[in-house]
Amino acid sequence: MTPTKGYAATSPTTPLVPYSFTRRELRPTDVAIDILYCGVCHSDIHQARDEWGGSEFPMVPGHEIVGVVKKVGANVTKHKVGDKVGVGCLVDSCRECRHCREGFEQFCAGSVMTYNGKEKDGTPTQGGYSNQIVVEQDFVLRIPDAIPLESAAPLLCAGITTYSPLRHWMVGEGEKVAVVGLGGLGHMAVKLAHAMGAEVTVLSHSPRKGDDARRLGADAFYSTVEEETFSKLAGTFDLILNTVSAEMDWNKYLRLLDRDGTMVLVGVPTNPVPVHAFSVIGGRRSLAGSPIGGIAETQEMLDFCGEHGISSDIELVPIQKINEAYERVLKGDVKYRFVIDMKTLA
Ligand code: NAP
Ligand code: ZN
Ligand code: ZN
Repeated sequence: MTPTKGYAATSPTTPLVPYSFTRRELRPTDVAIDILYCGVCHSDIHQARDEWGGSEFPMVPGHEIVGVVKKVGANVTKHKVGDKVGVGCLVDSCRECRHCREGFEQFCAGSVMTYNGKEKDGTPTQGGYSNQIVVEQDFVLRIPDAIPLESAAPLLCAGITTYSPLRHWMVGEGEKVAVVGLGGLGHMAVKLAHAMGAEVTVLSHSPRKGDDARRLGADAFYSTVEEETFSKLAGTFDLILNTVSAEMDWNKYLRLLDRDGTMVLVGVPTNPVPVHAFSVIGGRRSLAGSPIGGIAETQEMLDFCGEHGISSDIELVPIQKINEAYERVLKGDVKYRFVIDMKTLA
């Protein structure tokens, strides 16, 4: 077992604190990674505070992990010492079910989450707010040289979670896409949808974000604080990607869809949200959802970002400021993703 340093939540109501634990010895197909950077996803906050239920403590959050391969097991063929690599929300899956065989590990009933999950042998998993991690080689991604490592970290969750639905709903030239919420996921959605050729509109409850939205690649920006936004844009969009983590009236947003349009939820409000049947009956609209993405698609997204010069806009923080960073995420005070500089753990 390898001694490992990190930061953990020890209960839903107390701040994260320094925490020592161990990583397993390398199995033949394992890769040991020195973690250099880890993004701070809003899901880390939801889970550290047990807002979805079922959280287990102590919990080392973090599933936007990048680093360098330190050691490989005897049968590893996909990665070598010194490679720049990443790990996202999944560290294993059953490998046998239909979803796994088709590259949709995110839907596998036996998938193993990077933290707040259980390995196949029942050991709790611990995430990337730590100096190292051991991961099965098939769940380790290659980071293209063109992307600076620190701004690549958020691609491992915010990037794939927005790329996957944009691809699934075949966004491209001529499509009108709205991104609701300009946060960590939202700002990646804008960059990716723009690179895919869509006409992108940002719908935000923070009017001050307009200039940033355009700089990130949006063609238009509307404040959702203004009620007239909803009458002006009624029936406009082919796809709405909703990244908001708070309760909001989805019915109002569904009415912004064109005939046969779809609103895809990626944000996870803590409480259920009521939807009126007429919101989807009118215009034959769809309300859908999408979780992260499979491993092959995550690699495809990283390569796409490398080719198009896309990475995340980040604020690098020392790990000692993690609790402050959480508070600032909740206030929407981050442009647009915090990334922990793991050398500050030393
Ligand atoms: P984030 O950086 O906090 O962004 C969320 C954005 O939502 C904010 O920037 C804000 O944008 C908007 N917002 C916040 N509170 C709001 C309110 N009360 N009313 C309206 N808008 C509000 O969070 P994130 O890391 O992007 O994550 C967003 C959500 O996606 C979280 O719930 C997270 O758990 C979830 N998530 C899901 C998946 C998945 O697989 N589906 C993966 C990762 C994360 P504006 O200021 O522009 O309005
Ligand atoms: Zn995440
Ligand atoms: Zn499976």
